[in-house]
Order: sequence, then structure tokens, then C-alpha cells
Amino acid sequence: MTRFIFVTGGVVSSLGKGLASSALGSLLQARGYKVRLRKLDPYLNVDPGTMSPTQHGEVYVTDDGAETDLDLGHYERFTGVASRQSDNATSGRIYSSVISKERHGDYLGATVQVIPHITDAIKDFVCADLGDEDFCLCEIGGTVGDIESLPFLEAIRQLRNDLGAERCLFVHVTLLPYIKSAGELKTKPTQHSVKELLSVGIQPEILLCRADRTIPENERKKIALFCNIKPECVIEALDMDTIYAVPVKYHEQGLDEQVMRYFKLPSEPKPNLTPWKNIVQRIREPEGEVTIAIVGKYTSLLDSYKSLAEALTHGGVANNVRVNLKWLDSQVFENPETLHYLDDVDGILVPGGFGERGAEGKIRAVQVAREKKIPYFGICFGMQLAVIEAARNLAGIPDATSSEFGPSKSAVIGLMTEWIKGDKIEVRKSNGDLGGTMRLGAYPCHLVPGTKVHEIYGTDVIHERHRHRYEVNTTYRKVLEKAGVVFCGMSPDGQLPEMIERKDHPWFVGVQFHPELKSKPLDPHPLFRSFIEAAVKKSRLV
Ligand code: GLN
Repeated sequence: MTRFIFVTGGVVSSLGKGLASSALGSLLQARGYKVRLRKLDPYLNVDPGTMSPTQHGEVYVTDDGAETDLDLGHYERFTGVASRQSDNATSGRIYSSVISKERHGDYLGATVQVIPHITDAIKDFVCADLGDEDFCLCEIGGTVGDIESLPFLEAIRQLRNDLGAERCLFVHVTLLPYIKSAGELKTKPTQHSVKELLSVGIQPEILLCRADRTIPENERKKIALFCNIKPECVIEALDMDTIYAVPVKYHEQGLDEQVMRYFKLPSEPKPNLTPWKNIVQRIREPEGEVTIAIVGKYTSLLDSYKSLAEALTHGGVANNVRVNLKWLDSQVFENPETLHYLDDVDGILVPGGFGERGAEGKIRAVQVAREKKIPYFGICFGMQLAVIEAARNLAGIPDATSSEFGPSKSAVIGLMTEWIKGDKIEVRKSNGDLGGTMRLGAYPCHLVPGTKVHEIYGTDVIHERHRHRYEVNTTYRKVLEKAGVVFCGMSPDGQLPEMIERKDHPWFVGVQFHPELKSKPLDPHPLFRSFIEAAVKKSRLV
């Protein structure tokens, strides 16, 4: 019997509901329970796949090919449970399913309404695809009081009636701002936010109060009194120097203990948090440091590279070093005089990206990495541009390009319109829909024995997650190989180059997939571990 924990947020956005849910998930797991985490997003896009990364942050891709909210990345990093398509729904997805049923005539002449049809669809989603999970943590995106989130709040209110209080717990994340002139943390916004929730029939049982300093006992009691909550369920959530300290901190504040009490589950044995404590200690007291340049396009919002930044941190944890990230907008390298920005770095990474703007600057960064023997990691677009760089500068194809930038006779990177997924052929039109039509999700890749990546992974077949439309054009394979490009990972049918490396370089790897999506603090991804190891070696050479 799965119990549900609904996590809402109030006062302002960006309070860390995703992290709170992830941390609670990891605490319940450390107590031996099986968990699943999901997110309901109130916006109207069917999924975040078509949204700009600088507006909405990274699009997190699951094994089963869903394009989801970046909070699902936190869920996976903290719990290790692989997210699925059924773990993220938006208002857009819910409405489009209801509307297509209506068009199909499934409602038998009824007037289709928000209540009950939309709310029923939300409830179906929340309860679907669950097996022997002890807990399903369900985060409601947005802020309480938004018009958009009302159907979700109504649905979870109904669910508590349907399933009973013993199976549903409401947790609310809120803010206690510090007002300098008064010298106090203020509780009023929290009181109002809880009032707002009460007005839609939801009484939270646990409050997670974000604050930048300790909450005085009398303020905690005041919140408890005004919000109708037990004082021990008013939990302090202070800002942390690393997100991986959040589970231990919440445990110290009694969060998992209160959840146990609510559901009348045994409070003993306490969770074993030693692995988390070790990670935090390694992050806080590293033995050295390296600097990695990330040459990208969406550097104005660092959330657009969330998983990447985390995976690099994990690589640092594995090598006991701090990884300093030097975010560089690739467009600056269109002026060759700025290449000195790369002088003091121990590694260069070109991440995933879309479109022509900034691509030339990234190609210059690849060239610097290759020529100066700086460890280079090209992810998705970063691999494609590394292939273009080799084609232009080493294979004698000066106009080598990607068909993503327009038609060309030297499209070393070309649009993929047909490929194999499992035992099916996927087909795309070049002018088809943009949403949900890329090569998405986990695909197998065969590693070539004797290559660096084969040694790094220590296995023959890997499964990594994809999100792209274009591929290395194998018509150019021979000439690229002559230019030193080693095709070290291929799709099982040998048709799609999934990984490349160079023999004449200490560490030069390009991957068509997104390895950052599968890295976890307790299990750093082998490529990030190895890349940072190479960066450490490079830093010791100078
Ligand atoms: N724009 C490239 C493509 O669609 C790369 C995508 C990516 O880096 N995720 O193939």
C-alpha cells in the first residue's frame, strides 16, 4: 500500500521544493522504504522539451525517453531511482489527454469540466504506475495562490478524502524572510501562505521553513499556533553550502521522524546517513582543486546545465578535488583574441546545445583543447562540433558543417530521419513537429575493445540517454579516421557513431548522449570520474 506525501510551496518560487522532496526521499530510503518521486507542473506546455533552457532550465531526459522537469534529475541523484514518463505531468499533458478523450466521444455526452474531469485525470496520474512503493512523493510545481495550480491542489485535496488521512500527508515549503531594519525573521508571509492553502481545503501537517538564520523558539511556536501545526512539525530549513548536506540537515531537524510519527511507523532504527556525511565531508575538505571551462550558450541561467554541474562535482568527489566551473559564453571565442580565457584551465567541456549561434566559438575551443592537449569532453553538440573541427582542420574539408545550420554539401553532421529503437524503426520528417520528436531516452552503445572509453567503463555495452536530432554522418568515417578520430562507441547495428576519442591526446572524448543525466553523488559517472582525473593530472603538470 503506497502512502502519498504531497509537497507544495508558498510565498515565492525557487524555495527548493525539489530538493526537499529529494532529500526526504533519500531519508525514507535510508530507513529501508521503497520510494518513488513525481512532479506535477502547472504550465500549459505538454512537456518542457520545447521551452528555452534559459527560461526553464535543463530538460531532464528519462531512460524511457520523457523530456521532463529538472527536479526529476534531483530525485534521481538523491535516490538512485530511475524516473519514468509517468513521473512528470504538466497541465498541458493533462488537458490534452482530457480533450482528446472528449473528441473521441469518451465522455458520453457529458459537459467536460475542470472538476471532475481534469481533477480525475490528475488523480489517475498521481496513482498510476505504482507497484510495491511504500511512499510516493509528489511535488506540485509553482506557488500556492497561482491560478494555474488550483486544479492540482483540488485533486490532491480530493485524494486525501478518497484514500484517507492515514495514506496522505501534506508538506508545505515556505519562506521566513529576514527584515534587516526590524532585525527579525518574519512569519507573516508563511501564515498567509498556509491560509491560502486552507482556503482550498488543505491543512499542511509539516512546514519546511526556509530561512537564512536559525528560527528562534518563540517564532517557531508562533508559526505552529497560527498555522495549526505541532511545533515539532515546524521544521527549519537553512541555506546550505552544498545541496548534498540537505538530507542530513533535514534529518537533524526531525523531518523523517515526523513523517514516521504521522504515518504511525516505527521511529527506530534510525537511518544510516554515513554515505551522505562522507560525500559532504569530501566536498567541504577536498585535497586539491581543478578548473574546468564550460563553453556553452545558455550560461546566463546556470540551471540550464544543472545535471552537468552536478556530474562535474561528482567527478570531483570521486577524485577528492574541488571542481571550479568557469562558465564561458562561446560567442566570446568568435574573437580569437579572447582564447587566452582558456589558458589557465585544466579541462574544457562543450555541453549539449542547439542552433548555429555560438557554434564557431565552440569549434575554436575544441581546437585549443586538441592542440594544447587540454583534456576535452564533448557532450552531444560538443561531440558533433569536435568532429566538425577535425574535419575542417585535419581532414581537409574546410566547409565541414552540420545540416542543423542549413543545407550544405559538406554536412559531416546530418539530420537523422530513421533509426532503430528496440525492435522498431523510428521515422521523422525534416519539417515535422518540434515537440517530443528527437532521438530520446536510453539507447545501447557497443564499446570498441582497446579504446580509452572501453577501459573507463570496464564493460562492452552501455546504455546512455539521448536528446538530439543530428548524428555524425558515417559517409565521412574513413576520412575522419585518417584525421585521428577513433570511433570508439557505436550503436548495436554499427550505423550510428555514439562516441569518439583521439589517440594523439591525453584525454579527448566526445559522446553523442548525455552521461551527466545518470551521474549520482553516491555513484559518480565513470566518464566524469575519468575526465576530472585527467584534469588533475594536467593541473599537476604545470
Ligand atoms: N543540436 C544537436 C542535435 O540536435 C545537439 C543536441 C544536443 O546537444 N542535445 O543533434
